[in-house]
Amino acid sequence: MSAEPMNAVIQARGLRKSYGDTRVVNDLNLTIQRGECFGLLGPNGAGKTTTLRLLLGLIAPDGGELSLLNHAVPQDARVARLRVGVVAQFDNLDPDFTVAENLLVYGRYFGMSDAAIEARIPQLLEFANLTNKRDAKVPTLSGGMKRRLTLARALVNDPDIIFLDEPTTGLDPQARHLIWQRLRELTAQGKTLLLTTHFMEEAERLCHRLAVMDHGKLIQQGTPRELIEKNIEPQVVEVFSETSAAWAEQHAAHYAQRFEISGESVFCYVQDAQVLVAHLQTQTELRYLHRPANLEDVFLKLTGREMRE
Ligand code: ADP
Repeated sequence: MSAEPMNAVIQARGLRKSYGDTRVVNDLNLTIQRGECFGLLGPNGAGKTTTLRLLLGLIAPDGGELSLLNHAVPQDARVARLRVGVVAQFDNLDPDFTVAENLLVYGRYFGMSDAAIEARIPQLLEFANLTNKRDAKVPTLSGGMKRRLTLARALVNDPDIIFLDEPTTGLDPQARHLIWQRLRELTAQGKTLLLTTHFMEEAERLCHRLAVMDHGKLIQQGTPRELIEKNIEPQVVEVFSETSAAWAEQHAAHYAQRFEISGESVFCYVQDAQVLVAHLQTQTELRYLHRPANLEDVFLKLTGREMRE
């Protein structure tokens, strides 16, 4: 592909993929720079996993141009993937093997010698906080440990880019924080991360840049701060109680630049919440939460509040 920016490690132009009559990835343009943590957000069915699979060359696009680490994909994907690590959505560790054996077997897929893999295992185990679980069988590990082993396994070939599909789904907060810490260490080492997530807090904390995807298209891209500033008033007041909808009909338009009613909650988006909060303090039957605008507000504005199955 010509005119590739020097530091682009992933570049997609006009990428398309349909299943049946459904355009799952629809004219997608994406450039990811070396060393950044890039987040792909979108409701279920938006096309995130399909996009990752296209970028990895695991499925063939119907059209468009794609390069991964300066290799054309899918044509030269096999070579490019030698420099890539993948953490799939569901742990696919081998349950018959120990922790260390899982790393060993996986390293062989990359053509590494057993000696080279063995030499890496101690640091991978340390990274995953699994040093004392080296000889444990996979089924005896907790969910957090399995995730950390899957992450360590994705690093066995010392990749330049790591693809992570919902890396912390199903983990408790402690386990999630440990994964976040490790992912930050990887970006600090100069690795490029491409992750999908449903957790806006995760995206806001980890990602340098984000794209919001829906119906196969990238709707918006930017830094978390840019996306918030572009889409949402700086302050949000959530009003919630049985009578909040009635309150909203009478008062919300007077106090808020914009408001949305969702069930028993009213979301008021304001430049300055002072007057609204003073008013709410006089409404003793209402409860409210005053907070800065966040990425979840952006996500819900861009993709809507209705459920996706
Ligand atoms: P996301 O990861 O954002 O939830 P996916 O990329 O998994 O979205 O799926 C996007 C759409 O493509 C969904 O409607 C899904 O059912 C459909 N899809 C994904 N893979 C296949 C496939 N192999 N065959 C048919 N439809 C598929």
